Amino acid sequence: MITYSIIIPVYNEEANLPEMYRRVVQVIEGLDGPAELVLIDDGSQDRSLAILDELHQRDPRVHYLSLARNFGHQIAVTAGLQYAQGEAVVIMDADLQDPPELLPQLIEKWRAGYHVVYAQRVSRAKESWFKKLMAYGFYRILNRFTDVTIPTDTGDFCLMSRQVVDILNSMPEKHRYIRGLRAWVGFPQTAVQFKRDPRFAGDVKYTFRKSLNLAIDGIISLSRKPLKIATYLGLITALVAIAMIILVLFWRIYNAPAQLIGYTLITIAIFFLGAVQLICLGILGEYIGRIYDEVKQRPLYTIKKAAGFDEISQS
Ligand code: UDP
Ligand code: MG
Repeated sequence: MITYSIIIPVYNEEANLPEMYRRVVQVIEGLDGPAELVLIDDGSQDRSLAILDELHQRDPRVHYLSLARNFGHQIAVTAGLQYAQGEAVVIMDADLQDPPELLPQLIEKWRAGYHVVYAQRVSRAKESWFKKLMAYGFYRILNRFTDVTIPTDTGDFCLMSRQVVDILNSMPEKHRYIRGLRAWVGFPQTAVQFKRDPRFAGDVKYTFRKSLNLAIDGIISLSRKPLKIATYLGLITALVAIAMIILVLFWRIYNAPAQLIGYTLITIAIFFLGAVQLICLGILGEYIGRIYDEVKQRPLYTIKKAAGFDEISQS
């Protein structure tokens, strides 16, 4: 029986793995039950997979999965959740931004009866002001739009009970915003605060595009409010159109000198309506695209190699 599973997604993290392993092992040796490391190689192109294999040969507590290509962080974590066997499951990054030394505190809360213990950052060391601003704005929009409350300044770094993990694993959706699903599940949840360290080595793997996609996934997977924006925009333009009709009629009837009438007004109207229509189409497209992804019923990921797990094969 494994008590603790520690899921760590790895994408081109060769420079971080040895130090990450050293620090995690130091922590799990002090825990009150057996632990496993569930490392997921998300299609790395560097030596990450070879290092994972070495660690696995050396230490039977190291289990790893290798995805057949880069599927992205959220899918890598999902794969880890499906393979993890522990009673309590921890998710953290491979770059040591999430300090493994916080584990005993997370576990303490779990022992006290909480099903989800998320780590909440109180400071973000050495992250650009742009990233901080984006994160600040995003979490506020997200909570305004969605019915579940996602605590601000939390990421995927957390501990979840077996019950919660089983529920997450039973959700078939393809676009997975784990911190949203985790909040949606319910159960007693609590926070433990920590200071987010800078990356130990290597570059950020979350490009701006990946972060933006994650943000859109977060909002759309949890909320239908963006569709209402389309309706509201439609209503507002209808009002503008009525105002313009009245204005034009007024000018005609009273033969007022109407300098505004003419190409300027028409051009503005065309551009304005075009923009509104495109925005609405875009919002609709986001939802329709997701319906398309769901009906295709493809597996979430493909596995090149799995090592250390008890003959289970889920996908
Ligand atoms: N990661 C991954 N697949 C990806 C991108 C990132 O598995 O396509 C992993 C990465 O190796 C790291 C974690 O996700 O362990 C967080 O990535 P990063 O540190 O670049 O993001 P940030 O700290 O900015 O959230
Ligand atoms: Mg990081």
